[in-house]
Amino acid sequence: MVLFRSSYRQAFWPITALFVFMFALTACQSQQAVVVAGVSEGATAVPPSPPATNTLMPVVPKLVAPTIQPIMLGSPTPMPTGLPSFALPDPAQLTATAQPTAVPSSTVVPPTPTATHTPIPTFTPPALPQTLPDEHYWLKRPVAEGGVVWTNKHYPYGSTRNGELRPHHGVEFDVPYNTEILAAASGTVIVAGPDDQKIYGEHLNFYGNVVIIQHDTIYKGQPVFTLYGHLSRPLVTVGQRVDAAQAIALSGATGVADGPHMHFEVRLGQNSYDATYNPLLWLWPFPDRGTVAGRVVFPNGTPAYEAPVRVERVDANSRYAATTTYALGDLNADDIWQENFVIDDVEAGFYEVIVTVGEDKFTQEVWVYPRRTSFVEIVITP
Ligand SMILES: [Zn+2]
Repeated sequence: MVLFRSSYRQAFWPITALFVFMFALTACQSQQAVVVAGVSEGATAVPPSPPATNTLMPVVPKLVAPTIQPIMLGSPTPMPTGLPSFALPDPAQLTATAQPTAVPSSTVVPPTPTATHTPIPTFTPPALPQTLPDEHYWLKRPVAEGGVVWTNKHYPYGSTRNGELRPHHGVEFDVPYNTEILAAASGTVIVAGPDDQKIYGEHLNFYGNVVIIQHDTIYKGQPVFTLYGHLSRPLVTVGQRVDAAQAIALSGATGVADGPHMHFEVRLGQNSYDATYNPLLWLWPFPDRGTVAGRVVFPNGTPAYEAPVRVERVDANSRYAATTTYALGDLNADDIWQENFVIDDVEAGFYEVIVTVGEDKFTQEVWVYPRRTSFVEIVITP
């Protein structure tokens, strides 16, 4: 928009100041309309006159083809039995102006209070961008429903928990002793027992009793492994075939563990400690939840290590979620997302992602869709 305006200013420089002012104003307004219709990119929308009802108008919905059914908040999706399939809109019907690989920062017109307004506005999510990269939510939760199926949010992948611990190569399920641990997908058991002879973690006796499965599905030519650590005992043996959700072990606190829990890892390409990836980009989100992944970087592109990230809901009352970006270490970003943080189990809705550095706040708005990944990039400037 700046270039657009300045080029016209140059062309019309000799004309009176009044003319330039009027023209720039007109150009600016029409440019804004196009940007907003193309789904976002940080433009500040001109607030429309308030609608008769309190339902917010979607941001200039005209160019977002009305035949598309976006995945609505809270729409129940049955638990999949195979690979997840998402009701994506037909890409051919979407406007070509959407830029899905750019930072998705929808600017939403603030609600206009009316006499009968409700405290929390209802936002209408925009249609999904047409070319989201393929997600790979291939893995089931390794704990049965009704148990501790949520990952521990205080020690996520890549975290040092404020410098207390080594950078985390997996996620924790805080299950009590002797909880049945389930295979995340079908495959073949390649390790089952104590890691006192061969190193699978940082050193010997790191994961204690451990099970590692090589899965049947190959990802981009690479084998996919899952690791289940600190078990009280395995229920399978090396070479055994397992189905998804088959019980493979009982949980415990063997190896380096300060209490009962199950450490879960995803490894790609090779079964080694430095080949781990964030499991939150592999585990199916729950039906009404999505995942926020992102990058926090400095202007030259270098990642910010262990920066605090908060995700706060805008369109409803909700507890915030928080994490930190990956620490410096043998941690890997997803080949699609190139992220350095992931927050899982985020209820579908409209959010602000906030990175606080000293007294400075850097924010990005983002829609979270059920069972989808929403990506943000936040650049920290001095
Ligand atoms: Zn762990």
